[in-house]
Amino acid sequence: MQENQIVFKNVSFRYQEDQPWVLKNVSFSIQSDEWVAILGHNGSGKSTIAKLMNGLLFPDQGEIFVHGIEVTPETIWDVRAKVGMVFQNPDNQFVGTTVRDDVAFGLENRGVDRLVMIKRIKESLEAVSMEDYLLHEPHRLSGGQKQRVAIAGVLAIQPDLIILDEATAMLDPRGRKEIISTVNNLRVETRVNLVTITHDLNEIVDADRVIVMNEGEVWIETSPRELFAKETELRTIGLDVPFVAKVTNRLKDTVEFSEQPLRQKELIDTLWT
Ligand code: ADP
Repeated sequence: MQENQIVFKNVSFRYQEDQPWVLKNVSFSIQSDEWVAILGHNGSGKSTIAKLMNGLLFPDQGEIFVHGIEVTPETIWDVRAKVGMVFQNPDNQFVGTTVRDDVAFGLENRGVDRLVMIKRIKESLEAVSMEDYLLHEPHRLSGGQKQRVAIAGVLAIQPDLIILDEATAMLDPRGRKEIISTVNNLRVETRVNLVTITHDLNEIVDADRVIVMNEGEVWIETSPRELFAKETELRTIGLDVPFVAKVTNRLKDTVEFSEQPLRQKELIDTLWT
C-alpha cells in the first residue's frame, strides 16, 4: 500500500449492535492526487464513510488506512491532522466569533507560525471569494457564505485529504461549480486527495472517479462518463442523470442503432419519461 492512499478494506459498520448494518463489506482505494466523488441517494451510507475516514467513527469489521495510518481510537489525532472535512451544515462547524478567528482556529491548533497564519487566512479566504468578510460574524452570513468560510478553514490547514460532504449544498449552481473547481485546482497543484460526497450527479462531472453507494454497499466504481451511460440502472437506485447526459445518451442511441433521420420531437419526448 502506498503512503498517500486512502484504503477501505472489507469495512462493515452499524451504529448500534441491535440495528442493521449501515455499511456492508465496503472496499475501495483512493490514489494520491485523485478526486473521487462518492455518490448515492440519502441514507446510502456516504456520510458514514466520511466519518470513518476522519476517525469520528470506527469500523466494526475491516480496516481503514489514511496515508499509511490505520484509523483506530489510538491514532485519531494523527489521522485528523491529515484530514480536512466540511459537512453540509456549516453552523455546527464555527468556533470563532469572526470569520478571521474561525479560519485561524485550525491553524492555531496546529501551532502554525503567526506570520504564516496571516498569509494562509488571507489566501484561503481569497480562494473562496470571502476576503472582504474578515471581521464579520460567521453566524450572520448567508448559508452559502458560511459554506465558503468553512471550506476556507479547511484549505488554510493544507490537509493531505480534503473531504467535502455536501459542503456546497447551500450555494447556487454557479457558486458551487466555482468553489469546487477552486478546490480541484488546489488539489492538482498540491497533490492532495479530494473526496466529494453528493447525491447530485451534476456534481460528479469533473471527478476522476465515482464510487456509487446503494444500501450500504459499493454499487459501482467507474468514471463519470461511463456512469452517465447507465441511465436506466441508475434510476433503479434512485439517481437521475443530468439533462445534458440524457440528451447525449439519446443521440448516441439514435446514431448507433437507427438508420432513420433524428426525429427531434420524439427524442425530446423520451427525455421526460
Ligand atoms: P447518507 O450520507 O448517504 O445520506 P448516512 O451515512 O448519513 O447516509 O446514513 C446511512 C444510514 O445510517 C441511514 O439509514 C441513517 O438513518 C443511519 N444513521 C446515520 N447516522 C446515524 C446515527 N447517528 N445513529 C443511527 N443511525 C444513523
